[in-house]
Amino acid sequence: MGEKIKIAVSPPIQVGGSLFTAEQLAAIGTLAGPGSKIEMTSFKQMYVEVDTDRVEDVKNNLQKIGLEIYSAGFSVKSLIACNFCRGAEEAGLEMAHILNKAVAGIETPIPIKVGYAGCALGTSEPMLKDIGVVKMKETFDVYVGGEPKSLKASVGKLLLSGIAQEQLVQSVTNIISFYKENAKGKEKFSKFVDRVTLEVLKQIAA
Ligand code: SF4
Repeated sequence: MGEKIKIAVSPPIQVGGSLFTAEQLAAIGTLAGPGSKIEMTSFKQMYVEVDTDRVEDVKNNLQKIGLEIYSAGFSVKSLIACNFCRGAEEAGLEMAHILNKAVAGIETPIPIKVGYAGCALGTSEPMLKDIGVVKMKETFDVYVGGEPKSLKASVGKLLLSGIAQEQLVQSVTNIISFYKENAKGKEKFSKFVDRVTLEVLKQIAA
């Protein structure tokens, strides 16, 4: 049996949430081939094992049917967004797309999860992500350092409040770049936030 590689597959960020069509799911199974493992991750990406020599072909075919492909390695994961139940405009679907395009796939010392919620109800649990973005009417709040794992689980801390749409991508990418450059080895993002302090991160993100 040949070498296998994992790719991360997800539907586009959309109103209604992480929706696959029946055709997309069937195609994933067919393209992965018999015996391949397909894992549903906790961060709304499907990890699909494919033969290394067919990976580009599989990616192209999945993209043709509307699916998005990301690295399954150490990188910023695709945005973990809410279901936009308040509608695309009010919940900021376009902003979520722009943010996802800007950050998903950036290589990082450990996988980084960015949550996005279209309102303060936060049903996509942005407070439990490394970076959580919450739309508050016309502006955005940004939380950092949410930690859902272990007995020391904790919610993110408010880093920025009232951020304009035009500033959001720059602020989030600044935080990620600073983490990439200053993390000690595979330092957890929540520990990094505690070590460098919110005050310093605020200056970096501004
Ligand atoms: S975060 Fe708000 S807009 Fe998004 S699905 Fe939940 S309630 Fe709806």
